Amino acid sequence: MLNALEYQLIDPVEFLQPNRRLFIDTNVFMDTDARRAGGLKRLIERGQSAIIANGNPVVVPTKVVGELTKQSRIHPSGETMERAEAIKKAGAALTFLESASKAGLVRKDLGDDTNPYADDLFLKLFERFAGTYEMCLLTHDITIKLRIRLLAHRLAKRLLVGVLTKDGDLEVESDESHFERGFRKYKRHATCIAEGSGSFKDESEVAVLKPLLDDFGKAFGLEEPVTNLGPRAVKSPSSPAPRRWAVASTPTNSFSAQARLKPSDTPMAFSALPKQGDHVTWASADRSGSLVLGALLGEGGEGTVYEADLSTVVKIFDKDHLTRHRKEKIELLVNRNLRAKGLCIPSAVVRNGNGEFVGYVMPKASGREFQRTVFNKRKFEREFPSWKKADLVDICISFLEKVQYLHSMNVILGDINPKNLMIDEKKNVFIIDADSWQLEGYPCPVGTPMFTSPAMLGKTYSDVLRTMEDELFAVATMLFMIIMTGQFPYIRTGTDGDMVQLIKEGNFAFQYENRNNKDQPDGDWKYMWSHIHKPVKDHFWHTFHREGKHYKKRPTAAEWLEAFKAYKSYLGNKRLNFDPMSNDVYPIRNKAFKQDTPIQDCPTCGRQNAIAGIWIDDTQEHSLPRQCNKCRDQQPGRAAAAPTITVPCRDCSRPFPKSQLKYGRCPSCAQKHDERRARANTLDPSRLCVRCQKPFITYGNVEWHQRNGRSVPTTHRAGSGGRYPAGCVPTLPRTPRTGPTASTTKPSAQTQVGFWARLRKWFTGN
Ligand SMILES: [Zn+2]
Ligand SMILES: [Zn+2]
Ligand SMILES: [Zn+2]
Ligand SMILES: [Zn+2]
Repeated sequence: MLNALEYQLIDPVEFLQPNRRLFIDTNVFMDTDARRAGGLKRLIERGQSAIIANGNPVVVPTKVVGELTKQSRIHPSGETMERAEAIKKAGAALTFLESASKAGLVRKDLGDDTNPYADDLFLKLFERFAGTYEMCLLTHDITIKLRIRLLAHRLAKRLLVGVLTKDGDLEVESDESHFERGFRKYKRHATCIAEGSGSFKDESEVAVLKPLLDDFGKAFGLEEPVTNLGPRAVKSPSSPAPRRWAVASTPTNSFSAQARLKPSDTPMAFSALPKQGDHVTWASADRSGSLVLGALLGEGGEGTVYEADLSTVVKIFDKDHLTRHRKEKIELLVNRNLRAKGLCIPSAVVRNGNGEFVGYVMPKASGREFQRTVFNKRKFEREFPSWKKADLVDICISFLEKVQYLHSMNVILGDINPKNLMIDEKKNVFIIDADSWQLEGYPCPVGTPMFTSPAMLGKTYSDVLRTMEDELFAVATMLFMIIMTGQFPYIRTGTDGDMVQLIKEGNFAFQYENRNNKDQPDGDWKYMWSHIHKPVKDHFWHTFHREGKHYKKRPTAAEWLEAFKAYKSYLGNKRLNFDPMSNDVYPIRNKAFKQDTPIQDCPTCGRQNAIAGIWIDDTQEHSLPRQCNKCRDQQPGRAAAAPTITVPCRDCSRPFPKSQLKYGRCPSCAQKHDERRARANTLDPSRLCVRCQKPFITYGNVEWHQRNGRSVPTTHRAGSGGRYPAGCVPTLPRTPRTGPTASTTKPSAQTQVGFWARLRKWFTGN
């Protein structure tokens, strides 16, 4: 499903949504191919409710109606049977168009009838309105197809051309396929000319196609096809399955790859946020309805998630995250009607009783966050005790397949982190938080420093578009941390844990080939690293080490996928995978050096395969340690693993077992702290903005001003985009600020606090 096809099937109802337009060319009405018979009727049947609801009829330009009229008047006697059939179809089409337009399903009043060529008309229409609508033209004419695809590419807009199947689906061919067809047409006419039988039509077709194919090939990086330029192969109706391309190409309905950064986000006005038990309305790409918000499933940093039915949930944004960008992004995703297992893509927009945007419907994810499973050794061992290394590799593959699909759609996930990924006991990976994805110039406004590329560090996430290289840094980090169950790639001994600094330095400390890094982390992590399959290890080292060849040009999702699939098959190959401990998630020694290295169980603790021979150059023999590393570490005199470490709570200073502390606080202080923070983020209802008379400042902000001896503001201030909330714009021009301006903490800085705390937790052994 996720692979690029020679052609794609798209639901044409998508183009009956507002801000979309669907056009039909003359030749579609005169199509005599039995394999497509009835497609137009099916399209109208399927689309009629959307057309009426959106007031967006299918457009059949006046020019096309004119051509059909002209065709229908030709006397069929003396024509070939096929021509006669087509002429009859033109007549029938006129009758159909007449009744469809009376029913409001088709409009025939658009398009300049004085334009002699319908092709030019479509091109002009598409060029002129590309900035306003996403458009689709149904046509069989390859020349106009090429021209419109090229236009779409040049303008980086979504303009499609295709034909209907008999089920009324829109069949859109790949750019390669368009190119090949165009070439065949060109060759046919060029051959006529070369053979001396060229007509005026041949000459003019060649004159149009030659430069067009040239531009097309350059634009899409396609070479002139060398093989199989004979007559077009007729698709057999008995084998309707689309042929797969060897190389993945961009899906036709992807988002723009070149969209520019949208103007800053702004909050949206709303009257009320629905809660559990409230009625809301929803609208997907082709349907709408209402539902009651079910059980509250979770509250996050951006909103609240409620149950909708067995397989879907509703996310209602909180007031701070109800913004124009989120609304527009969700509408874009909803209207694409994308379905992909494990991707929680918005499937419907949700509005409150007053018709205001408040959230969206998405497929329900199952399982638990990586943060609380795979990334946490203690929880991981409890949750998935039977998992092997191959299971972690499967998770990487599952994650990568989804990432590859989104990248092929020109969607950048942006904030890849272990809270946005979920895993269930069947190893299904779910990617959530689609509303933060970067697409069509809408940035991903949030980020996690640990997954932020060196180039992106220090920038404000909401102010810039991430590049694919930024994204691929996050992908690589995530893969490393899955395989290493939560360990950060730049961990090393002798560091104060300044993660940003570590990323910037690019000093990847794990042992690689003959390089010795004195900072290589000791113990479990070292052993885990030692057992990673070489091709994956190569990718990691070259990506993370500043001297690596992928340090600036990182492996793509497809390249990682290849490496991890090879890892998987390696693990299943008993001959190549000679060290049984390579299958363990937590090996307790380095990988055996060679196939013939002796491997034994530990005589002291009985751990299987716990001892591997160490090659001694002097004696030219393997030396076998008497105990495994774990037993050796537990001997008296060795640094013992302290069973319980007690540390004082940072607030009340009472001693507590370290494992019970939450960010250094005892359970009761942690709860108080959370309550304080929640209150600090709540608007003080007793203070109203003197301009707009609405609450405008949080308790936390008031306290900050008071604590720092500053006067508490009395009005709204401009937000991050330099804008005031709707209805609260000062009449005077803004005067330059004289006092210090850092009255609120930036969201990115806030993320950082949580991040550092989490990191400390990971470092200090859960
Ligand atoms: Zn010819
Ligand atoms: Zn042992
Ligand atoms: Zn305490
Ligand atoms: Zn105000």
